[in-house]
Amino acid sequence: MDYQKSYVLMWVGMIVGIILVAVGAGLEIGWLLGIGFVIFAAALLQTWLFFRCPHCGKLWDTRGGVPHYCPECGEYIW
Ligand SMILES: [Zn+2]
Repeated sequence: MDYQKSYVLMWVGMIVGIILVAVGAGLEIGWLLGIGFVIFAAALLQTWLFFRCPHCGKLWDTRGGVPHYCPECGEYIW
């Protein structure tokens, strides 16, 4: 897994997770609510694992997206 895929997966996972939680809560479907939470948590977990600099391994701030240069080691990213 690279950081680009990880970043996309974070958004997809969070959006899908929130939708499932909202629908599950709204319709009172417990298992749907549970799956939503699991997907949301998995999206965050994989981001923590893979959204890192390929040069120094430092975890990036997800709020800023994929940085052009690594804020930690200064290596060119894209
Ligand atoms: Zn770096």
